[in-house]
Amino acid sequence: MVRLYYMRKVSESGQSISRKHEDRIRIALIVSCNALGMIGGLMYVIAPQRMRWATLPLPTWSRWIGVGLGIISNPLLLWTHHALGKNWSGTLEIKEEHTLVTSGPYRWVRHPMYTSFFVIGLASLLVSANGVIGGSWLGQAIVAALRVGDEEALMIEEYGDQYRAYMQRTGRFLPRIRAEARLRGTP
Ligand code: SAH
Repeated sequence: MVRLYYMRKVSESGQSISRKHEDRIRIALIVSCNALGMIGGLMYVIAPQRMRWATLPLPTWSRWIGVGLGIISNPLLLWTHHALGKNWSGTLEIKEEHTLVTSGPYRWVRHPMYTSFFVIGLASLLVSANGVIGGSWLGQAIVAALRVGDEEALMIEEYGDQYRAYMQRTGRFLPRIRAEARLRGTP
């Protein structure tokens, strides 16, 4: 629901001025995984017996780990939306009033939203112990993450050396712990 709020807010922002050609298969896979994850999740709640065939034999403790991951990753997703603001888009594009965001989680990581998708996918798998639900959310995260190369090429086209410098000081999906340690003079 909160994600829908950000999507509506973004739809009021400017036109796209630059767009990266996106593989149609990739987009179709993301949309299908998303739909399957939502339908599967809904079925799991309203008619769990229909989803039983995809049950995974996971121990109770791993389901609690999933709960913990869910508690961490959902606020991370909202934080990334808040930080990206109107620069967010479902496809790869640069908008009229696009700005390079380097604050919030973007201070340390270039693709924290994809990281949050992955952790949410993992949490869904562990909590539901269901192959369809977990597989579709994890699948969506993996396919989304596969476009980082194209996304970074688009950002370099638009921001050039500013983005290259940003790449030097950040990690792709996780903070660059080693680089930071080197800057602080730690071996
Ligand atoms: N890959 C990012 C953002 C996903 S939304 C993440 O995982 O957090 C995809 C859109 O975000 C792309 O169209 C791109 O134009 C935009 N984008 C990616 N990184 C950005 C940044 N640091 N500042 C502004 N826009 C960015």
